[in-house]
Amino acid sequence: MIAAALLALTMLMHSPWPNVAGWWGCIFCGQLCYRQQIVGLLRQSLLSQSISQRDFRRFCGYSLLISLLWSSAPWWLVRDNDPLYMMLVLLWLAAVAAAYAAYFSSVRPLFYLALLVLVLGAMLKLLLSGVPVLYLAALSCLLYGVALVVVIWPLHRIIRDSFVARDENSQLLTELSVQQQQLEAVNLQLEEQGRLLDEALVKVEELVAHDPLTGALSRRAIMLQGERLLEHASVSGQPFCLAMLDLDHFKAINDHFGHLVGDEVLRQTCLLLGTDLRGSDSLGRYGGEEFMLLLSGVELAQAQPRLEQMRLRLQQHDWSDLTPQRPVTLSIGLVAWQPGLDLAQLIHRADNLLYAAKRAGRNRVMVEQTAALAEKGSA
Ligand code: GH3
Ligand code: MG
Ligand code: MG
Repeated sequence: MIAAALLALTMLMHSPWPNVAGWWGCIFCGQLCYRQQIVGLLRQSLLSQSISQRDFRRFCGYSLLISLLWSSAPWWLVRDNDPLYMMLVLLWLAAVAAAYAAYFSSVRPLFYLALLVLVLGAMLKLLLSGVPVLYLAALSCLLYGVALVVVIWPLHRIIRDSFVARDENSQLLTELSVQQQQLEAVNLQLEEQGRLLDEALVKVEELVAHDPLTGALSRRAIMLQGERLLEHASVSGQPFCLAMLDLDHFKAINDHFGHLVGDEVLRQTCLLLGTDLRGSDSLGRYGGEEFMLLLSGVELAQAQPRLEQMRLRLQQHDWSDLTPQRPVTLSIGLVAWQPGLDLAQLIHRADNLLYAAKRAGRNRVMVEQTAALAEKGSA
């Protein structure tokens, strides 16, 4: 402000006050409008990352106008061609040109235009002055303009590259955030599909482990349970019993009442057997109308009455709705685990006892002791 006031004072000594006042008024208003323009453009570029063509053209128009105003300074204000005073004004113009050069370095055409207007305006005045020393000043103006171009040239490339890099970065960031959102959506989908898959797997395992008709364990599942009990028993010595249960004359039930009734008998048999089962017991469908029962933690002496109870429950059940005048009974072979026996041997023994029960007249629980007595009796 002080420098400008001193300059204005100097100007008043060399040119009429209306010229000085008029030029300062124009430059002041011009600069104010120009500042408004720049602030508006900056705000727009921050908000939308781009500037409209129309606004940019208006900005260029303002730049040209303000350059013209500055370059007109020697014409308005240097009326007496005083070399010293002229140098002072030229110094100011050089400072303005340098400021513009830095300012417009990213917009090369605008920089050339502003520089051309400034240099040409001053040079013309200097060449027309008729003062030899001012011709030299005109040459200096030209050299100064060239020097500015040489200095700004690489700067322009650096600034442009940094703008391009900034744009690329912001584009990359946008793409990255879109991809991140897509990734999150895919992750959510995967999680949901994983959850559904887990549920389906549980259902499949459930299906594989159970017989679909009776709900009892499947043959594979009851065999696995048998292996587990056997392993546990061999390690801990904990007793368990294995029984093979077979419906008597089931073929005749099928033949008389049809397979659907036969199926229902199988289902109800399992329900009835289930009422006598404890948490540690396992009932599985071994095949057809034959079931395998594992009683964990019990000796033969405890298992036998429980199987008798199951057999009785089946015998005493009211089957008249399903199989009128035809009883539904079970023959059972029961063995207790003994060290050294494997599952196949246990099943084989229980099967033998089952067939002994069939031979002895069906509808009974056969253990090795009673089988031996029965064989002796029949012999
Ligand atoms: P036993 O007293 O000697 O055991 O005579 P059984 O008639 O019960 O034995 P058999 O082996 O002669 O017949 C078994 C029948 O069980 C034959 C088969 O058709 C029937 N069966 C096997 N599985 C099913 C099934 O899932 N549903 C029905 N309805 N019948 C079945
Ligand atoms: Mg049978
Ligand atoms: Mg059978």
